[in-house]
Amino acid sequence: MQTELVKIDREQMSHHIMKRAGEILQNGGLVAFPTETVYGLGADALNEEAAQKIYAAKGRPSDNPLIVHIADMEALGRIAESIPKEAKALAEAFWPGPLTMIFRKKECVPSGTTGGLSTVAVRMPSDEIARELIRQGGGYIAAPSANVSGRPSPTTAQHVYEDMKGRIPMILDGGPVRIGLESTIVDLTEEHPVILRPGYITLSMIRSITGEAEVDRGLIADNSTVRPKAPGMKYRHYAPRAELWIVEGPMERVVSYINEKCSAFPGTGIICTEETREYYPDGVVKSIGSRKDERSIASHLFAVLREFDGEHVERIYSESFDTQGLGQAIMNRLLKAAGHQKIDVSEK
Ligand code: AMP
Ligand code: MG
Repeated sequence: MQTELVKIDREQMSHHIMKRAGEILQNGGLVAFPTETVYGLGADALNEEAAQKIYAAKGRPSDNPLIVHIADMEALGRIAESIPKEAKALAEAFWPGPLTMIFRKKECVPSGTTGGLSTVAVRMPSDEIARELIRQGGGYIAAPSANVSGRPSPTTAQHVYEDMKGRIPMILDGGPVRIGLESTIVDLTEEHPVILRPGYITLSMIRSITGEAEVDRGLIADNSTVRPKAPGMKYRHYAPRAELWIVEGPMERVVSYINEKCSAFPGTGIICTEETREYYPDGVVKSIGSRKDERSIASHLFAVLREFDGEHVERIYSESFDTQGLGQAIMNRLLKAAGHQKIDVSEK
């Protein structure tokens, strides 16, 4: 299959191209497109056969459900069995935007879209290209991240092309995404909202709207006895080809530990920040952003993990990040990329 990579100007969207992309979706095909979080791989969510094509193109395990993207609130009422008042308040506060909510599903949502679950994950993205594509494509677009399963999520159309070339007919190129981490997922089928995947919308932002809210224990527990409720969170994900370790502790000790490893293993990869870059004289050093602006770190994380794949490094050491606020989402993705390999260099 030929994969068409088409540039779209967000300010002046070509109606002709958006209509053509919408037709591909309406005819059961796949289109990759930008959202404010990461690039998505879209299919008509209400067409089971179309949604199944996503699993094939990504090599995604069939028990890992898809998020349904909508462009207006009326669409939510047609796929969610009931909309709790917390959900309405969260939608009011954060939609359109990087928040996904889990509801009990209506009959019309095929179980092929929800990985066999009786619930459905729904998000209303803010990116204008995504919103127009949803409208042109029939209103309900299932769209996981547009990477091959297990690889870092794509934050540019070029990343999508690397993974999906020959597997899908069209990629809409809207330039680099704004946020760079996937949406926060909140389960609204329990008594209180539960965060199943941390993201740009933090626990304290959710609590400021709903009062009570928790983080799924399966995400916090270091031992893996508690299973995460979002099926996708149990898989190794975002993994670069090299082995990755996260080094924790006071910054000076972290830097000297990483430098020791670098002398022992020439060609070691290092993930650092603007603040520490100058302290690493050797190795393949990549700064991921500034600690003063966590958003810059979030937006570069996946691209940096992908870049290492082109560098022939066999081991990568990364500094660690604060686990509050947006840092919680950053550490969640980094730890998954590292298969949870952590090294603590604090003085015992
Ligand atoms: P992705 O689309 O790649 O960002 O992955 C979607 C994430 O949403 C995965 O971790 C899924 O397991 C999770 N998810 C989707 N639908 C549901 C659902 N109904 N219940 C729980 N988690 C879900
Ligand atoms: Mg994904």
